[in-house]
Amino acid sequence: MATIQTIQVGLDKDTCEVLWKDGHTGRFHAKWLRFNCRCEQCVSPIPGVYTINIPLFPDDLSLISASVDCEGKKLQTEYKGEILPEHKTVHPANWLRSKCYCDACLDSKIAKRDVISRYVTSNDGERNVRKMQYKTLLDDEDIGLYRLLKDVVEAGVCLIQNVPTEERKVVEIAKKIAYIEPTSYGKMYDIYVRDSENVAYTNLMLPLHQDQVSSEIAPGIQLLHTMRFDKSVTGGESIIVDMFEAVEVLRVESPEDFRTLVEVPGCWLTEDPSAGRYFEHHKCHIQLDYFGKVAAVNWNATTFSTPQVRDKDVNRYYKAYTTLSNITRRKSMQYCFKLEPGDLIVFNNRRMAHARKGYELNGGTRHLQGTYIKLDDMKSKYLALCRKLEKNVVPPKIGNNCSF
Ligand SMILES: [Zn+2]
Ligand SMILES: [Zn+2]
Repeated sequence: MATIQTIQVGLDKDTCEVLWKDGHTGRFHAKWLRFNCRCEQCVSPIPGVYTINIPLFPDDLSLISASVDCEGKKLQTEYKGEILPEHKTVHPANWLRSKCYCDACLDSKIAKRDVISRYVTSNDGERNVRKMQYKTLLDDEDIGLYRLLKDVVEAGVCLIQNVPTEERKVVEIAKKIAYIEPTSYGKMYDIYVRDSENVAYTNLMLPLHQDQVSSEIAPGIQLLHTMRFDKSVTGGESIIVDMFEAVEVLRVESPEDFRTLVEVPGCWLTEDPSAGRYFEHHKCHIQLDYFGKVAAVNWNATTFSTPQVRDKDVNRYYKAYTTLSNITRRKSMQYCFKLEPGDLIVFNNRRMAHARKGYELNGGTRHLQGTYIKLDDMKSKYLALCRKLEKNVVPPKIGNNCSF
């Protein structure tokens, strides 16, 4: 429980310094306080509805006074430029402390949310995909799903073993997490060798890629269920690379190339006239958030296409692309494994890039069924489960371009 010890309005009347009983100090701006007022008039009884009409306030809104109740549990402030008659701005001390935006508090919150960096750092070269048994999901669905999603949130991938090889089982399991995210490939797709212009449906090597980067937003979570992978089939191993880890290696080893991939966009193209598919999207490989952390990564060596950028950027773009590509090819960066019938792999498609080695059927069959769900829906389900199971977690950063 946070308790306010003393407060002081700055000489410029623009800020209010708050000293808490535990010695922590925060500084809040007049506009921030007024526009985040927690009084009954300003906080809508309907959750998530913002009621304050900011443009009606003058730009030089300033503090007239600030006071704290005798227990130190509530800050009350008044303003020159207030538009509501008789209005008093209030902030419970606990709420104020939880939203404190001093450097120390922000840095601590950023670190807590950044499960990806924490996982990569503590991972220490471990290159085994986390696994769980299908039975865990059956024994207790909430605990099983929590276990699965925790791995997907933190490690980016989890392999469920011994899933019955029944038709559309992958959809049934995906629906336990969230609604299916349909794409132009439908709600579910089958991967096996057939006469197709899509390289995924051949026995050829599939280079490292995130699915559908040529779309404005690539699918979030991918689920792939191995229906058949006959013993006679040679090759076809899977490779997974954590692109968030790869770009952090790039940032350290080659900061100039890192900067280039933040600034110069690449292009991805999916053109499939027979299916009526024309997707083209230009975006940067690395997208940073306000704090300079990686917020999104885009990589697809298959649908990679023709950049349309200024003359001065062409060579530095291809140089940076090559540097990052070489990092992803290091054995030390790759999870390499061979799927077995009953394996169902769940991974964050906007974080993990995957590849497949070429294979020969030798009279056998390799058949996978896949589907997608939204990254945001997965995170929502994870947080709902955490709350239900009384796990104390902060909303994690999952690589969906969120800035905090
Ligand atoms: Zn208010
Ligand atoms: Zn603080």
